[in-house]
Amino acid sequence: MSARVLVVDDILPNVKLLEAKLTHEYYDVLTAMNGQEALKKVEEQSPDLVLLDVMMPGMDGFEVCTHIKNNPATAHIPVVMVTALTDSGDKVRGLESGADDFLSKPINDTALMARVRSLVRLKMSTDEWRARENTASQLGVGDDSESVMSQSADEARVLIVEDQEFEREKMTEALSARGHYIKSVASGPEALELIQNDNFELLIISLNLKEEDGLRLCSHLKTNEKTRNLPLVMIGGEEDMDRVAKGLELGAHDYIMRPIDRNELEARVRTQVRRCRFQEKLRTGYENRLSMALVDSLTGLYNRRYLEVHLEKLIEKNKTTHKNLAVLMMDIDHFKSVNDTYGHKAGDEVLQAFAGRLKDNLRSFDLVARLGGEEFVVILPDVSEMRAYMVSERLRRAIAETVFDVSHPDSPIPVTTSIGGAIIGPDGCSTIHEALERADSQLYAAKEGGRNCVFFEDKGKLNPEEYMGIARKLLE
Ligand code: GH3
Ligand code: MG
Ligand code: MG
Repeated sequence: MSARVLVVDDILPNVKLLEAKLTHEYYDVLTAMNGQEALKKVEEQSPDLVLLDVMMPGMDGFEVCTHIKNNPATAHIPVVMVTALTDSGDKVRGLESGADDFLSKPINDTALMARVRSLVRLKMSTDEWRARENTASQLGVGDDSESVMSQSADEARVLIVEDQEFEREKMTEALSARGHYIKSVASGPEALELIQNDNFELLIISLNLKEEDGLRLCSHLKTNEKTRNLPLVMIGGEEDMDRVAKGLELGAHDYIMRPIDRNELEARVRTQVRRCRFQEKLRTGYENRLSMALVDSLTGLYNRRYLEVHLEKLIEKNKTTHKNLAVLMMDIDHFKSVNDTYGHKAGDEVLQAFAGRLKDNLRSFDLVARLGGEEFVVILPDVSEMRAYMVSERLRRAIAETVFDVSHPDSPIPVTTSIGGAIIGPDGCSTIHEALERADSQLYAAKEGGRNCVFFEDKGKLNPEEYMGIARKLLE
């Protein structure tokens, strides 16, 4: 699907011109002739980019931009202000209202396409996180309250790569005065060394270095796994426009034309830092919430939700690979009396140690989950019946043969567990619930059969003696 661009201008020929240029480059174009219409289309059609005229009667471009950027549902959509004015005060005002970039009329085609392409690409990567965030929301753990504009841009860590001393000092002074943390160097190799040891949030790179090509440095940073997400802002003159376009192609986020206007510099730094911090927040927030949603906080094992999703995948996979998997359902014996005798805290410690013993006795690709209470499930993918019996016996013994040391004065505590197992063949089972139920009925049989024992479907109670010798060997 090609990206959709919303063109907003109150003068029809301007709209038509941009529409023609963008359509020629295979973008889908939506149009609006005033601020109200623009906001409506942004909300309803969620375009990938907005090209927004500044001067419009009624609601002007600044106001439209402020609305887009203050609405969490639309704040992620990049906005490029299109202005006839070259006044830098205007640029700064636009950036303050959250605009992602500027184009001046008459519009330079190279600049237009470079900006559109790089902003659309940036949006795609943010969208990916937003989509995951959306899954997290469906799981009941999303957080929609963050937006780009709600991020602080204070105390940004910025590295400047510029070999003209005067320019370097001017930028350093301007940004330091706003409270940012600035380091500056005169060459790429020095920059690469500093990046190793400091976590910069933004790099400003001159395209006019005498000894080397600033673009090469951009390219290096963008293709390197560790630095790929670091925002780059290029500095160049009018004559560097083609190279600026190339840099944006390579993944640089923005550029500033010489002579550098300190307000514009400050505003662009702020925009990039906000965006970088927002993406970082989306990423780490997503990971944290995901682990909160899928991991049991007491034991660190996966929870039921994760088990269900994962088991479903395994069952589907086994149908095509024609392999068996084993489902082991476990329940601690008389756990209520552990709580009654030693207290709930000791009970929790037993659950934690119990989980640890299960993990210690399984392979890394076996799955252990806590279903709730003192019930656990182990999934052994790609397993023979014999191995499933061995592993089950080994788990039973790992619990029963060593008492549990906990913080209670009457510790250690003897604990045993009952285990019910079912081998799920490639054709034997269609749903996860059926698989879990089959193992569960064997668990019930194990409880009935005296506890501290293993029951398997089509097999009955396992005889521990039978699986003593070789079990150890299988662990290797
Ligand atoms: P059985 O051998 O038949 O399984 O007996 P049981 O006592 O283990 O079974 P029952 O289901 O009657 O009791 C389970 C107990 O587990 C009751 C509940 O208080 C306790 N329990 C459930 N979750 C937790 C937990 O997170 N921490 C602690 N400490 N106890 C828990
Ligand atoms: Mg129990
Ligand atoms: Mg129970």
